Amino acid sequence: MSTNYDLIVIGAGPVGENIADYATKGGLSTVIIESELVGGECSYWACMPSKALLRSVHAKKAADRVGGAQEAVTGEIDVAAVLRRRDSFVSEYRDASQVEWLESAGIDLVRGYGRVTGVRTVEVTTDDGVVELTANAAVAIATGSAALLPDIPGLADVSPWTSREATAVTEIPTSLAIIGGGVVAAEMATAFTGLGSAVTVIARSGLLGPMEPFAGELVGTQLEKDGATLRLGVSPTAVRRNEQGDVVLELDDGSRVIAAEVLVATGRTPRTDDLGLASVGLTDGDWLSVDDTLLVDADTNSDEQWLYAAGDVNHRALLTHQGKYQARAAGEVIAARALGKPVDDAPWGAHVATADHGAVPQVTFTDPEVASVGLTEKAAQNAGHHVRSVDYEIGSIAGASLQADGYEGRARLVIDEERDIVLGATFVGQDVADLLHSATIAVVGQVPVSRLWHAVPSYPTISEVWLRLLESYGRPRS
Ligand SMILES: Cc1cc2nc3c(=O)[nH]c(=O)nc-3n(C[C@H](O)[C@H](O)[C@H](O)COP(=O)(O)OP(=O)(O)OC[C@H]3O[C@@H](n4cnc5c(N)ncnc54)[C@H](O)[C@@H]3O)c2cc1C
Repeated sequence: MSTNYDLIVIGAGPVGENIADYATKGGLSTVIIESELVGGECSYWACMPSKALLRSVHAKKAADRVGGAQEAVTGEIDVAAVLRRRDSFVSEYRDASQVEWLESAGIDLVRGYGRVTGVRTVEVTTDDGVVELTANAAVAIATGSAALLPDIPGLADVSPWTSREATAVTEIPTSLAIIGGGVVAAEMATAFTGLGSAVTVIARSGLLGPMEPFAGELVGTQLEKDGATLRLGVSPTAVRRNEQGDVVLELDDGSRVIAAEVLVATGRTPRTDDLGLASVGLTDGDWLSVDDTLLVDADTNSDEQWLYAAGDVNHRALLTHQGKYQARAAGEVIAARALGKPVDDAPWGAHVATADHGAVPQVTFTDPEVASVGLTEKAAQNAGHHVRSVDYEIGSIAGASLQADGYEGRARLVIDEERDIVLGATFVGQDVADLLHSATIAVVGQVPVSRLWHAVPSYPTISEVWLRLLESYGRPRS
């Protein structure tokens, strides 16, 4: 195997794989370095297993909400079957098929731990010793992020779960305390409640904080209906295991929560702590700040433009699809720069990740689902936009009432009144995930509201909420 390539990619998660693929298609020789499994966090311990656990819970609930189907689906969820299905989605924690794909794409793989040692040089610690690699054009860092453990006395000693243990669960605990109120916490609360755990969520700042306030409220209400306990506005001050082996969490209001296991879902930390970044004047352990072409903002890059970072590690949007979007731009721009081809780095050009700034879509697979894109009302106001928001109860839509008996949900559009375009949209309700792309197109395309009136939603679908939202806003006249 060669030790010199045009591009070295560190990290073979979804983002690293896409950078390598797009650069290779662009004409570069590429090697990718992976210390665990090719496919990364998303494939084995994040998106895929979490959604596999949740899907059975959602399917059962969906049947329970439709007269006729409800009578047919009367048993309990078969947990063993759910876990078997999860195992199939994580390929039994083996990466053979993804390695095969790398080979078919013409990308070399070095299994081991990569560290930057200088400009365009990387060393990889493998089982067989250290391999020194050099890059002619660029090094791209796509090492992702890891769960952040808060500094709570005793927490580290109780073997707390992170998202890895939760998504890889082999036995559902009788009870589970979850510290955190973000997406991972809310999704895992939904999954484990559905799979039979008595879940307590401990969240200092409420549920799904950065989203529209009604998202966390509706998800919280349903979690409580399903039997979960919400402890909002409180934090653990100390954690220990008692003689029975249960985890005891002391809270700052003087109360305590006792559970068989504790899941910590309080955020992510960049996987840059042992990456050799100090060798090129950067700080190990920091998120890597980048420009819109994914070039790392650093002195080392000012002339040579050799170091890129995409995906979770740059902290722009910690989502697989958004990281892969960055990766497509990064792979192509690295190839263009290396081969002296034109670089299209104007906003919305081929070589930039413009959408990261105000058009990031996200689906939170709770019950109800939360599908959002762009700015919330508050974020838009904070950014100085003159906005008006319109809300609509999705349960009043014919399509929604057919979808589920007693459908509850709400939608909001945040509209820039000066430019007459949609800056943000949030849909909360059962089966709204696939509505989101319509909103993403409206936001990215900056489609005038007057033109959206001509985008006619089909009857009777939940997408008719678009019409109701536009009617609530009123038809702009030119
Ligand atoms: C529980 C959970 C559920 C999620 N669900 C979703 C979802 O439904 N949809 C969604 O869009 N996002 C979801 N995410 C976020 C998503 O997992 C991440 O955004 C995505 O994995 C980021 O991809 P990445 O390639 O940047 O990093 P990763 O997937 O973390 O991949 C990085 C790779 O780099 C390797 N690596 C790290 N350091 C080195 C090194 N020094 N040398 C060699 N290799 C190294 C790692 O082993 C890893 O394989 C979820 C996250 C969590 C925690």
